[in-house]
Amino acid sequence: MKNKVKDILKSRKFDVENLIYLLKSEGDEMNELFRESARIKHQYSGNRVYYRGLIEFSNICDKNCFYCGIRRANKNVERYNLADREILDAAQYAFDNNYGSIVLQSGELSNVRFTSRITSLLKEIKKLSDKKLGITLSVGEQTEEVYREWYEAGAHRYLLRIEASNPSLYKRLHPDDELHSYNNRLDCLNLLQKIGYQTGTGVMIGLPFQTYEDLAGDLLFMHDFDIDMVGMGPYIEHANTPLIKYQSELLPLEARFELSLKMIAVFRLLMKDINIAASTALQAIDPMGREKAVKIGANVIMPNITPGIYRDSYNLYENKPLSTDANDDCIECLEARLKMVGAEPGYGEWGDAQHYYRRTAKGKRQKTKLKR
Ligand code: SAM
Ligand code: SF4
Repeated sequence: MKNKVKDILKSRKFDVENLIYLLKSEGDEMNELFRESARIKHQYSGNRVYYRGLIEFSNICDKNCFYCGIRRANKNVERYNLADREILDAAQYAFDNNYGSIVLQSGELSNVRFTSRITSLLKEIKKLSDKKLGITLSVGEQTEEVYREWYEAGAHRYLLRIEASNPSLYKRLHPDDELHSYNNRLDCLNLLQKIGYQTGTGVMIGLPFQTYEDLAGDLLFMHDFDIDMVGMGPYIEHANTPLIKYQSELLPLEARFELSLKMIAVFRLLMKDINIAASTALQAIDPMGREKAVKIGANVIMPNITPGIYRDSYNLYENKPLSTDANDDCIECLEARLKMVGAEPGYGEWGDAQHYYRRTAKGKRQKTKLKR
């Protein structure tokens, strides 16, 4: 039988029809896709994988996204907010262990207490690491002023998933109010790019109501937006969320997992020099999920360094790895598992996306300034 994937890869014509074909590929054709995405990744970023020590510093959130286990209306979550000391200790741990970078992530709040606390944490983290630790923020939609303040205080990457690039799908996943506006999220992404952040976005894969057309549209959206980094992974249901009533309509978890790998592989074909994260949700489905993603195109891993007692309350979805599970993220364990897929950690490096420096002349100046 003719291998259409081979033809698409040769022609590099990535229109919606061909993207859908790639996303639906199976067996030999899927393996052909994975071989090509692995080849491209290797050509552009070698076998290095960059660490972002993930600090989930608070699960308090003002929003009510229909898919998320820590949404405001879920009263069955024990809310927490790490003390500054605990956050700084986690950052110190990342620095001492040569992680190169951290991600500060939390629920979304926009009051001044929250935003100025982050500003001082950024400054403290820069101080304790002699400016050497790279910092990514993932704390939702904020004003231009706040994004600028954080950028000046030392954050240089920002992750804000668009979640679903089709506005009508987005609407079905969020309450219909000002706090959950698709246009605002888009405006925020534009602001982040304008200010000079290395800008990351992403989507969930296997959502209720989501079609292959939506997923192909997500890939084209992120490509056209010229993003520097992506974090996308399977949607995993959570019992205490409104979307649970559509559980029976979802693809089986294994299929969502495989589709997520295909999304990563296809996106690597579209954007060869960006950073692609192997999302934690992949690991919730398959213990080797992140490594499988690294094998076929991802080059960033976010080991969880949130103190164990809090980790279990950052419960976005079911089966999220718990603090009582084997410590899959211990340094030797992660390194050994990466070795199994022919990858090695880029210790002590920021591991910035080459794309950012190609995209902006300003980026080049920034690189020199930040690495001094
Ligand atoms: N609050 C910030 C925001 O929403 O941008 C950052 C933290 S939020 C918990 C990080 C990501 O978790 C979201 O962008 C969303 O894609 C993901 N997430 C939430 N619920 C999920 C679920 N049920 N399955 C998979 N991913 C989920
Ligand atoms: Fe809050 Fe982010 Fe969860 Fe939405 S996805 S409810 S903003 S933590």
